[in-house]
Amino acid sequence: MAADPSHRFAGPADLHLHSNHSDGTEAPAEVMRQAHAYGVRTAALTDHDRTTGWDEAATAAGELNMTFIPGMELSAKHEWRSVHVLGYLFDPDDAALRVETDRIRGDRIGRAERIVRNISRDYDLHWDDVLAQTMLDATVGRPHIADALVARGIVRDRTEAFDGILHPREGYYEPHYAPDPLTAVRLITEAGGVAIIAHPVTSGRDRMMPVPFIEKLIAAGLGGFEIDHRENTAAGKKMLHEIAAKHDLIITGSSDYHGTGKPNRPGENTTSEDMVARLIDRATGSAPRYA
Ligand code: AMP
Ligand code: FE
Ligand code: FE
Ligand code: ZN
Repeated sequence: MAADPSHRFAGPADLHLHSNHSDGTEAPAEVMRQAHAYGVRTAALTDHDRTTGWDEAATAAGELNMTFIPGMELSAKHEWRSVHVLGYLFDPDDAALRVETDRIRGDRIGRAERIVRNISRDYDLHWDDVLAQTMLDATVGRPHIADALVARGIVRDRTEAFDGILHPREGYYEPHYAPDPLTAVRLITEAGGVAIIAHPVTSGRDRMMPVPFIEKLIAAGLGGFEIDHRENTAAGKKMLHEIAAKHDLIITGSSDYHGTGKPNRPGENTTSEDMVARLIDRATGSAPRYA
């Protein structure tokens, strides 16, 4: 008899890491090596709207004696808010989810071209510059445009690009298609996964959704919140803890590592073993890969 799988995963868990299959700067295997070097022993790869990095990451994690949790960060939108819904352990071949991620990823391309066209009115930046920063088929986003601005010597790093040219207030910004968060939660849940709202209480554009709407998400199957994340506000975390306790939700902590694209380091926030076990127990769409 195999042991209960929920007790086989290894120590410090970081459930939110990006590779160059979306807007991280490193290949999936390198992301796992970095996570390991920072002491992480259970890691999830959560590229935006894409699952193609899973196999490479799982193999690398296995070689490092780590547990791998397959994941994704699904783009959603509530009114003017950009909402990110982390999905874990869902079926990557689920047809409805694939249709949605294909649609988001497709629309992100035209949107990135529109942003670049806007910027090119004032700066020497062209679509080819962005393509040069984007791995083939990566989920393209503003971070790739930021990297192109850096390569052109227009800004120093991604942070400067996001604080300036890429900020909506500067007028170059364009939105992209994304489903409503209710749809996002349902798609992940129906694909056998567990849906967790990523960084739910940051300030600015991603400001928290109204509590009654969050309660609708919970009724639709939302599994929990990513509470320990460097961008969540202190007051927001307190409020999330109260909602999570009231509804007995899963709470996670993660780094949101993007390689050299952000200062976030693997393992800077972690998820408790109890909570990892609850995620694994609840999911039916795919299995963790144990070392
Ligand atoms: P997009 O989805 O194309 O609008 O771009 C948003 C992505 O940019 C998020 O997934 C973040 O990973 C990244 N991002 C947001 N703010 C920053 C920042 N200040 N520095 C680096 N990356 C950022
Ligand atoms: Fe990102
Ligand atoms: Fe995010
Ligand atoms: Zn992320």
